[in-house]
Amino acid sequence: MLKITPVLSGIILFYQLGISAHASQTAAPAFQEKAIEMLRHSISVRTVEGHGLVPQLAQYYVEQFKQAGFAAEDIHLLPVADTAALVVRYKGNGSAGKKPIMLSAHLDVVEALPEDWERDPYTLIEENGYYFGRGVSDNKFGVAVLASTLMRLKAEGFVPSRDIILALSGDEETLMLSTIALAHQYCDLIDAEYALIADGGGGQLDENGLATSFTVDSAEKTYATFEMTATNTGGHSSLPRQDNAIRDLAEALNKIFAYQFPVEATELTRSYFSQTASLVGGDLGKAMTNFAKDPSDKKAITVLRSMPEYAGSTGTTCVPTLLKGGHAENALPQSATATINCRIFPGVGVANTLAQLKKVVGNDKLQWLTLDEPIESDASPIRQDVFNAIANGVHASYPDLPIIPHMASGASDGMHFRSVGIPSYTFSGIFIKASDQFAHGLNERVPTATVPVALKMWYSILKELTE
Ligand SMILES: [Zn+2]
Repeated sequence: MLKITPVLSGIILFYQLGISAHASQTAAPAFQEKAIEMLRHSISVRTVEGHGLVPQLAQYYVEQFKQAGFAAEDIHLLPVADTAALVVRYKGNGSAGKKPIMLSAHLDVVEALPEDWERDPYTLIEENGYYFGRGVSDNKFGVAVLASTLMRLKAEGFVPSRDIILALSGDEETLMLSTIALAHQYCDLIDAEYALIADGGGGQLDENGLATSFTVDSAEKTYATFEMTATNTGGHSSLPRQDNAIRDLAEALNKIFAYQFPVEATELTRSYFSQTASLVGGDLGKAMTNFAKDPSDKKAITVLRSMPEYAGSTGTTCVPTLLKGGHAENALPQSATATINCRIFPGVGVANTLAQLKKVVGNDKLQWLTLDEPIESDASPIRQDVFNAIANGVHASYPDLPIIPHMASGASDGMHFRSVGIPSYTFSGIFIKASDQFAHGLNERVPTATVPVALKMWYSILKELTE
């Protein structure tokens, strides 16, 4: 066997040497460089809503995949309004006799204004052990790492036992029209058994940089918004009456504030609480352990519901978020409206939640409106094959790290895939401290050290699931 050093690594050399276990080890650094090159280019294209640049970035990836040896017929650039989705199929030999596995991430980013940032958000900048740039974590990292991993497998001559589909959406941060198009119009292109989404979840580091846990979002609460309106004939404010639209609305709001939706628990949330308990310790940890054992434990419920970061995992929540009312300072209000945003526990349902709110308020004269079209999706099952593969991929870098299934509070691409029957698991290969989390915010960053970790993880997961 030839002795080759990492310095000599590269795709061309790799092709010349043919495929061997030794050679595949040598390929890793080349594809790490490839991932960073694609990340750098991706950051430079301002794929913000309204700029219409997502198709341009999708076209760049089309070229990258062609150069990496993917057949043109397996690459689909799908224009959707002024954005686009991209689907690339990595053909397998079908020996597994199973439907494809889908990988997903999104090409668009939240707006970043250069004048507000310390560095240009649309240039990948490496500084003090970090990469900075808009999308460097959310979610161009996921796109570049998934693409590079597929290119590496292709270069190694790997033939999966089932097809692998990469489906990139183009407006996850806003309307998700491209995701909806993938889930419905182009469902034949994403006929997957399940989806692995590289956007969210992932590894947590403590402030000393030690890994504490790895989260896999396996369910999502349903995001629904209602408007509640009180109306009145109004009149002159110098002639006040007992009935008043603002008063009716205020009384209804007080009842909503005082109400708590029933406690809910699933296999997923119980597993989440039982595993998180040992990480947080103390009274909170105890409450989590007790809740995991017995979700009707009143003391545990009180502790968990007093904490904003855990309350949502115990049931549906609804919060008034906007108010408008009246039309003149010297007139009795003819109408008053409150907006109520709900995060509905899987299985509870939008209609049931609205019915419950009406019951709590107990005023038939109020009018209710459901905004947009809430997408309901079931929790995805905790599949052992998927969680084992994730654990092995993570443990290659961080042995024994707890892998924790989690319910996200919504709303991401996963809900559209789940809603058409594709179980979805969301996790990125990013390991990051809470204090370095700036996704959607200023000076978004990822530690440079997380790039090889993420690549090693995805490579391991895909090999295990499709060998
Ligand atoms: Zn994202």
